[in-house]
Amino acid sequence: MGKKQQEPLKSKFASLLLKWDSEQNTRQMPWKAEKDPYLVWVSEIILQQTRVEQGLGYYNKFIKTFPDVHKLARAKDEKIFKAWEGLGYYTRCRNLIATARSISRERKGKFPSTYSEILSLKGIGPYTAAAIASFAFNLPHAVVDGNVLRVLSRLFGIAIPVDSTKGKKIFVALADELLDRDQPGRYNQAIMDFGAVVCKPAAPLCSQCVFKDHCSAFLHKRVNQLPVKEKRVRIRERWFYYLVPEHKNQIAIRKRTENDIWQNLYEFPLVEAEKEVDKKMLIRWIARKNRLSPMQDAPITISPLFRQQLSHQRISGRFIRFRLRKKTGMYNDWQWVEKTKTRNYAFPQFIHQYLRNATISQPSG
Ligand code: SF4
Repeated sequence: MGKKQQEPLKSKFASLLLKWDSEQNTRQMPWKAEKDPYLVWVSEIILQQTRVEQGLGYYNKFIKTFPDVHKLARAKDEKIFKAWEGLGYYTRCRNLIATARSISRERKGKFPSTYSEILSLKGIGPYTAAAIASFAFNLPHAVVDGNVLRVLSRLFGIAIPVDSTKGKKIFVALADELLDRDQPGRYNQAIMDFGAVVCKPAAPLCSQCVFKDHCSAFLHKRVNQLPVKEKRVRIRERWFYYLVPEHKNQIAIRKRTENDIWQNLYEFPLVEAEKEVDKKMLIRWIARKNRLSPMQDAPITISPLFRQQLSHQRISGRFIRFRLRKKTGMYNDWQWVEKTKTRNYAFPQFIHQYLRNATISQPSG
C-alpha cells in the first residue's frame, strides 16, 4: 500500500479499533484495566514468552503469594523460584526479584511513573515499559509486540521484515502515529486483543473483520505472506545425562549456579555430552564420569529419552538412577534431601517430566 493510500486508514484506524473493542471484544483477563503498576508489571513479565492461557494460573497464584512489591522483595529466592517453576525463561524471574528489591528498598515501594524510569528497570524493554506506562499511568506510549506487528504489516501491506533494523523503525513509528493519545491504555490492550483473537497468525477471521474493506493484505490476497521475518532461529542441540543418586530414603540434587539456562533451579548431578550416548554404554559412562563403581553402587534404571524444546535450544537426555552404597562426598555441591521433599525445590520442566513419570518421591527399599 502506497503512502497516499495509507492516509485514510491511518486516520480512522484508532476509532474502528476502539469500536471493535467496545462492541465485539470479549477477551477476558484478570489484569485487564488494572491500574496498579505492581500488578501490571507482574502480569507483563509473566506474559513475556508465555501464552495467556498458561500464564493465567501463575499470575493468580503469584499475586496471592506476593500481593505487593514489599512481600515479593522480602521473600526468599527459593520461594519465588518455586512459584515460577514451570514457566521457563528463568532470567525473567531473576530480574523480577532484582527489580522488586530495588523498588522496595530504594524507592520505598513506589513504582516509577515515567516511561524512561520504567524502561531503566531490570528485565523491562520498550514493549513492557510501554505497557506499564500506558496501562497503569495512561501515558501515550504504543506497545509493539508480535500481535501488533502482524496487524500493522497486514493492514498496511508492509513486507519489510519485522525483525530487521529498518522494519523495527518503521513499525515503531507507525504504531506511535496510530496510537490514540487520549486513551493509550485501552487502545494498546485493544490492538493486542485484536491480533490475538481476530488477526491471528493462522486462520485470521478476515470475513468478520472490521478492517476488511481497508486491509491491504486481505484485498490483495497476501494475508498468509505477512508479516515477513528475516532471521531464522538457530537451535542448539544439547544432551543432558542425569545421574539420580539414591541412598536409603534420600536423593542427591544440586543447584544450578552456572551462567546458563535454568540458573538457580535444582537438578540432579549432570553430565552434558556433545552427542547422544549409546544406551548400552550409558551406565559405565555415567558411573565413570561421576567416579562411581557400577559393581558396588548399583544402577537401578535408565529412563526413556526425554526432550524439551526451548526458544534457542533443544534439550534431550536420560536419567540414570543409582542406589549408592554410601553417600559420596566427592562433589561439594550435592545436597542430600529426603525423596518426599523434592517437591519443595524448583526444578526445570525437563526434570519435572521425569519426576512425574518416575516413582522417585516414593521411598524405595
Ligand atoms: Fe487481519 Fe484479515 Fe482483518 Fe486484515 S482483514 S486485519 S488480515 S483479520
